[in-house]
Amino acid sequence: MEPTILYALDFDGVICDSAVETGMTGWKAAAQLWHDMPKAIPSTILIDRFRQVRPIIETGYEAILAMRLLHQDMSVETILNDFFTQKQALLDQTDTTEDDLKKRFGAVRDAWIEDSLDDWIAMNPLFPNVAEKLKTLTEQDLCYIVTTKQERFVASILKANGITLSADKIFGLDRNKSKETVLTGLMAQYPQRTFYFVEDRLPTLLKVLANDRLANVNLLFASWGYNTADDKQQALRHPIKIISLKDFILIVDQNSAHHLALGEGPKLEVRKVYKL
Ligand SMILES: [Mg+2]
Repeated sequence: MEPTILYALDFDGVICDSAVETGMTGWKAAAQLWHDMPKAIPSTILIDRFRQVRPIIETGYEAILAMRLLHQDMSVETILNDFFTQKQALLDQTDTTEDDLKKRFGAVRDAWIEDSLDDWIAMNPLFPNVAEKLKTLTEQDLCYIVTTKQERFVASILKANGITLSADKIFGLDRNKSKETVLTGLMAQYPQRTFYFVEDRLPTLLKVLANDRLANVNLLFASWGYNTADDKQQALRHPIKIISLKDFILIVDQNSAHHLALGEGPKLEVRKVYKL
């Protein structure tokens, strides 16, 4: 049977609980840039504070800046509320660019992987039961990964979890395309399918929502990922379905699509009947 649905899945905070690894990579890269920061791995208290500010981060390299701010004792609240100003101030002070930081962040990760792949993989666990679900989805040709992570890192975490997803099904940072552009392309490629975009970052969902070309994409907000209580409150005011990890495990394959048709399982409201 031809698949009738397509899932565009964000990676970090939807599939992979990478917050600790992202924080540690950010710290190591920051210690290269600012020599007053210890090279040793940060304390669990600092890692815990990083997890609290993780929702503000859109792309991994920003963890370098978030860790610098935490090292300077900036509060979690200030970072969450004022990250963009603080980020720009740090970039100006250090005479570095976002592109430099992206490369540095990727290089620190590559060095960690080179040093100990097993250790790095262990720091990137998948959320509970997600590996099995993803295997089902990939076997049924139902999903793409749409992420801001570099593709080689996604591929290696999936491989380590026994999930085979071809390179053309992973849209990452390397392609230099916004998630909206990726989604628009996929919709043109699969005009017959009903689209679901599963994402844990509210601003990203709101951008999709504001894009008329994506009016038929069903937006699912991953409550188990990196977002705040305030984000969840805000999401309620939009045509966005907030789902739990349990919902995600239940709904996402051809069989569960059947359940939806039968009125079982979580209700998903299709925003419009899809047509090009
Ligand atoms: Mg995410």
